[in-house]
Amino acid sequence: MNTSNPNLHILLFPFLAHGHIIPTIDMAKLFATKGVKSTIVTTPLNASLISKAIEKSKPHHHNVIQIQTIEFPCEEAGLPKGCENMDSVPSQDLFLAFFHATSLLQKPFEELLLEQHPHCVIADAFYSWATDSASKFGIPRIVFHDSFLVPCLPGEIKMTRKDVPAFITNKENSTEFVKLLEDAKEAQARSYGVVVNSFYELENVYADFYKNEFGRKAWPIGPVSLCNKDTGEKANRAKETTIDEFECLKWLDTKKPNSVVYVSFGSLISMPDSQLREIALSLEISGQHFIWLVKKNEKDGAEWLPKGFEKRMEGKGLIIRGWAPQILILEHQAVGAFVTHCGWNSTLEAVAAGVPMITWPIVAEQFFNEKLVTEVLEIGVPVEAVKGVRLEGECVGCDALEKALKRVMIGEEAEEMRNKVKVLAQLAKQAVEENGSSYIAFNALIQELVSLSLSR
Ligand code: UDP
Repeated sequence: MNTSNPNLHILLFPFLAHGHIIPTIDMAKLFATKGVKSTIVTTPLNASLISKAIEKSKPHHHNVIQIQTIEFPCEEAGLPKGCENMDSVPSQDLFLAFFHATSLLQKPFEELLLEQHPHCVIADAFYSWATDSASKFGIPRIVFHDSFLVPCLPGEIKMTRKDVPAFITNKENSTEFVKLLEDAKEAQARSYGVVVNSFYELENVYADFYKNEFGRKAWPIGPVSLCNKDTGEKANRAKETTIDEFECLKWLDTKKPNSVVYVSFGSLISMPDSQLREIALSLEISGQHFIWLVKKNEKDGAEWLPKGFEKRMEGKGLIIRGWAPQILILEHQAVGAFVTHCGWNSTLEAVAAGVPMITWPIVAEQFFNEKLVTEVLEIGVPVEAVKGVRLEGECVGCDALEKALKRVMIGEEAEEMRNKVKVLAQLAKQAVEENGSSYIAFNALIQELVSLSLSR
């Protein structure tokens, strides 16, 4: 479908972290398929990564996806120069400074709104101020969000205090972060609606609850990652991979179906060496083949691994130090399970690829995503010991992961989970195809924006 108003112009403003930038690029590509022009607003260092990802997509996308940069006030916020993405923040103590720096983007963002006057702003949930900025210029602001899942929703979700992230329970130490989340919630309630990277069939109870209970407009348009069709597009998503994608696929081609475990904790989490050693041991003891993404580089040597590990694992395991072509790995038939921190993008990508999960949440809403995977959808199992290990310096012993690996890779329970997730993968694909639920929701969103622009 092409829209009746090809002049529609959307400003997309992702938070400065790969988990936010990647789905925003996908969303821009989706708009491009409808002939709708979009501009991604970001900082200079992120802009170069985004433009490479767009170059890899279809040529007709290039004409309708623009990138607009605004300077990032690193030094003003007490951050090192060039620290423009959450993954380059040198220590956790500086996370709040990073959030503070993003709040300083309000002024240049408003200047941009004045100059470009788009028909709509789709800004990240973390930019609570974007609702007021957009309304100053009479522009509707839509929030871009992960899943619908929030606690206290229908269904048999049991959350104990231990399941709830420290930033919620420990208000004293994290008041600023809690305030940020509260501001985001409040701004979301006042915004025009929410675009969600999920699909109706995955969490219909929650989608209905969200719309009916809160009375808000919401468009589930995902999984947006499914807009990437060829290998180049799937590999180049806002960061260059450390391994050549074809080399990685060739390695996987030598393995039997469902015989490889993919291990990754997303774009931000660096595990301490003691924890990495335990993970290595569980992979070795389990006897499973694996691809393991580690936030290390060649300079870090191999001291963080058990002695002789790489030699013993030759041919059995592939360690990627840096950035992996995640979607390509998940979609390969050799991959039989995904050890994940339950970041929403990773969770949804695993669903879309039909891969069962071993859940190991670390922060934020990852604990809720784990519940969806293990208790509601029953397409994964938790690493049980993770619940008790929240304190710095402690780590999850190797037997806990090994046990979970066996549950997901071998036996009847494993088979059941695999079958369930394959059905969901099919539903995900249908959702984004012509007349699927996400396809219809996306068209409805565009139509609504067209009507709004005509009435202004
Ligand atoms: N990703 C990737 N290669 C990597 C690590 C991450 O392609 O080596 C992608 C992954 O496919 C996902 C995103 O980065 O799209 C991570 O987002 P998620 O919400 O899962 O976690 P976050 O990094 O935000 O914690």
